[in-house]
Amino acid sequence: MWSGIVTAIPVTIGVRMPEAPASLDAAGSRSALVDTHGRVHRDLRISLTDRCSLRCTYCMPEQGNEWLARSSILSTDEIVRIAQVAAEAGITTFRLTGGEPLLRTDVVDVVRQVARLRTPAGAAVHVAMTTNGIRLPEFLPALIDAGLSRLNISLDTLRRERFSDLTRRDRLDDVLAGVAAAQASGLRPLKINAVAMRDVNEDEIVELVEFARAHDAQLRFIEQMPLDAGHTWERARMVTRDEILARLAARWALAPIAGRGGAPAERWTIDGGPHTVGVIASVTAPFCGDCDRMRLTADGQLRNCLFSTTEYDLLPVLRQVSEPGLIDAGIEGMLRACVRGKLPGHAINDPSFLQPARGMNAIGG
Ligand code: SAM
Repeated sequence: MWSGIVTAIPVTIGVRMPEAPASLDAAGSRSALVDTHGRVHRDLRISLTDRCSLRCTYCMPEQGNEWLARSSILSTDEIVRIAQVAAEAGITTFRLTGGEPLLRTDVVDVVRQVARLRTPAGAAVHVAMTTNGIRLPEFLPALIDAGLSRLNISLDTLRRERFSDLTRRDRLDDVLAGVAAAQASGLRPLKINAVAMRDVNEDEIVELVEFARAHDAQLRFIEQMPLDAGHTWERARMVTRDEILARLAARWALAPIAGRGGAPAERWTIDGGPHTVGVIASVTAPFCGDCDRMRLTADGQLRNCLFSTTEYDLLPVLRQVSEPGLIDAGIEGMLRACVRGKLPGHAINDPSFLQPARGMNAIGG
């Protein structure tokens, strides 16, 4: 039996199975994905592509991005197969992301097939999506019909010129049309994510919350993380959780909402509610102790943390093993190895921290 922390899955000749298949509990069900720190994993973020219709400065370079090889991109069937094994091992929420997930032509089919999966107890899984919203007017009715249950839209500024500078594309109107489509759809809770940036959009913090409220959405500010493809992140330029809260508290009475669980955002009610605002303070107030998330990149690499420098390669298991039962056992073994290798925290604040080689668009945000 293979044990210990995995640094790489060596695949040279044939495929190495990471461990004996399926850990079964006394009742004969598969046991949950629990790491060595006792964290139970319930959430799998699936990146559908590293391609994007925007080029946000904090995420992707303007030009010269090295795209993932098309031949390595997971097919619909491969994604669904991994999701099925993950659901059997206790994953209850699948979040589709990217890159921009709506650039995948099979996105509705992926949603439909993943939404059909059931937990071992027979419950429906949740299928969520993080998107820049640009193609929502076109896709949203079909996505909802296919079983999409939650939506996060990313929007950092409401000012046209600023939007063009920040995303290097003049697409603000398209994003706003996407938000309008989401509001009209009735899919709730609707969340809008904004990365707060010094000298870029910090003066819009209150305005963005007002915009979200007017669209029946929850604004969640994200501290900028060292995940840009250009490796230009500077701590001093980051707008912190405390600075965000100070701006909000100058405008509204904020009351903390208890019961965060494994959610990345801390939340507050605004002026007694019902509207709320959240902050995802990955840098200044990390929430790794409650992390229940794993990630699957578009090219079939499992990751146990956004900031991990280790990946667990599912492609050989999917493409070099011929017997279906062995493929599923290999996927499950890899999921368990990935979870077992998870460190207690992301260590952004440690002097030895190394930024992962992939940018956020290739990891899946
Ligand atoms: N294209 C989709 C979108 O725009 O939401 C999904 C992918 S995008 C990488 C997912 C989220 O990651 C977005 O909300 C984006 O703002 C966030 N993000 C990207 N790079 C980031 C960084 N360096 N720090 C914090 N958040 C980041």
